[in-house]
Amino acid sequence: MRYYLLTLGCPKNTVDSEGMAMLLGNAGHRGTSSPADADVLIVNTCGFLAASEEESLAALRELAAHKRRGQKLIAAGCMAQRVGERIAAEAPGVDGLLGTLRWMEIVPFIEGLRQKPDRGERSGLQPLSFGRYALLGEPAQPHTDPTPRPPVVTGSAYLKISDGCSAPCAFCSIPIFKGPLRSRPPEAIVAEAQALVAGGARELILIAQDTTDYGHDLGQPDALPDLMQAILRGVPGPEEGGLSWLRLMYAYPGHVSQRLIEVMASDPRVCHYLDIPLQHGHPAVLRRMSRPSNVDRQLETFAGLRAAMPDMAFRSAFIVGFPGETEAEFQGLLDFVEAIQLDKVGVFTFSAEPGTPAYDLPDQTAAEVKAERYDRLMSAQQRISLARNHAQVGRTLDVLVESVGKLAGRSGSQGLTDRIGRRGPVSLGRSYRDAPEVDGLVVLPGELPVGQMAQAKITAALAYDLVGECDYSITRYSPSTISPCSLPGGSLPSSASRWS
Ligand code: SF4
Repeated sequence: MRYYLLTLGCPKNTVDSEGMAMLLGNAGHRGTSSPADADVLIVNTCGFLAASEEESLAALRELAAHKRRGQKLIAAGCMAQRVGERIAAEAPGVDGLLGTLRWMEIVPFIEGLRQKPDRGERSGLQPLSFGRYALLGEPAQPHTDPTPRPPVVTGSAYLKISDGCSAPCAFCSIPIFKGPLRSRPPEAIVAEAQALVAGGARELILIAQDTTDYGHDLGQPDALPDLMQAILRGVPGPEEGGLSWLRLMYAYPGHVSQRLIEVMASDPRVCHYLDIPLQHGHPAVLRRMSRPSNVDRQLETFAGLRAAMPDMAFRSAFIVGFPGETEAEFQGLLDFVEAIQLDKVGVFTFSAEPGTPAYDLPDQTAAEVKAERYDRLMSAQQRISLARNHAQVGRTLDVLVESVGKLAGRSGSQGLTDRIGRRGPVSLGRSYRDAPEVDGLVVLPGELPVGQMAQAKITAALAYDLVGECDYSITRYSPSTISPCSLPGGSLPSSASRWS
């Protein structure tokens, strides 16, 4: 059997998709990048926001429109879990729904779907209307084993430490379809980390809905520092070709403990980087969001992290246009952003999600007001990000090289090629200050080995990205050992698409 697997949404979905692909491969099935060649089409959907549901539905409809006779189309993941009945109604070509907590049952699910209808009851599947089947809700047995993962080509891999969320944020739909926090056993996480590093990972990125809540459900609050130490003890370091960076995403304000700060500061492999979504900077809005609203305490947490690690880089996310947000409250957010001086920020306009407490709050903000506040916050942050990037010029940074391509001839790349000073191939990587997909890049002239660390002197800064020169005198290989490595057709990966 050949399968086509399309992944939408966040890194948590990416990890689940990798697990599904490995399970399918172990069962003798082969992946294909062409839907036309596949026997089974799988879309790992996102159901976080209305916009992500629309994107998932569009992908399902597109695949359904070209479905061959005998092909099966499966909607897996968060949207299938959250609003499976909507998928059934609006994407009639879908044959099966596999919930976000059931990805590890992909092989028997497909076998059940592909049974001939006259063979009677399909093993274990929940029948839906019109000949569709589903596996939704909680699995009979919780998944506690290491998730099977493929080799790490780019040197970087996500490592999911828990699923679900027990926070009460008024705008968020995730607890509705993911359920409460369920931490994975530390032994399974460490074993998965070991397999990923053996498979080529130089960077491990810890992810969850709230990484800093890890262990609470196991009766061990503040267990994240212990887990990080166990991972660091369990894998070889960079001198043995092993782990160079351990990165922490999705921390929750109020859950960043002193022990966590000490562990981050004490091992050079822990990136001095923290993604800590703050959502707003005005106490009244934070209270209405059911989020920690003591803004002074948040500023103290950031000050504590900066005192322990002066080179810390911070990423955060904010929502503008939450119901009832006044101009004065929005101005409070702008003032907060000026005060806290973050390196990278994602901004979202509030989306009213059915089933959440904020869905039918009074005083919903008009779309044009949300758009205007989005622009104002983005411009304010771009100025801050540019200044913080400028402060990197002259530093020498480790860079994880992720791809090689060409900028020449691409619209919008002129500013970058001017800074690089020539039009040859470039290597695209990230420093400790950048997480994949959401943050910026370090662009280096020349072709460097993908998946390896280089050391680069930063020579120029843009609002999102840095430009550098590889320092061959301190990088552990010489130019003569670098083998040419280009993406097909010299194309750049999507993370560089902001240049075009
Ligand atoms: S902490 Fe994050 S995932 Fe959990 S409810 Fe709040 S916004 Fe949603």
